[in-house]
Amino acid sequence: MSEPGSPICRRCGRAVVTYAADYSIFEGMHYVCFHYEFEHELGAAADPDVDCGVPGCPSGPLPTKAPSEVAEGLLREIAELLRDPHSASGREATMERPGVLIVHGAEGGVRLLAFDVPPQT
Ligand SMILES: [Zn+2]
Ligand SMILES: [Zn+2]
Repeated sequence: MSEPGSPICRRCGRAVVTYAADYSIFEGMHYVCFHYEFEHELGAAADPDVDCGVPGCPSGPLPTKAPSEVAEGLLREIAELLRDPHSASGREATMERPGVLIVHGAEGGVRLLAFDVPPQT
């Protein structure tokens, strides 16, 4: 998906489009290329297929892109539905960061991630 005037990634040679504004921050690379070049080795795992533990690692479960306000709003709705003060389950829902909801209960916890999908027609 090359666009005229897009800068070229120093690592893979493809056009940088999505994060073109951050081209210099990522040392003239894609975010993903920058991560695997400089950050991934610093984490717990050098294997690119394994989450290195750095927040936003593309091999990890967390979305690298922030969800839209719509997705974020839907996640908040879920959090509200789970926050029943009269419930005996003692569940707690907290937003860990935008698009990431943690739900704790007596029996364990779960991390819910918001990813955008196209609207249903
Ligand atoms: Zn690249
Ligand atoms: Zn990584």
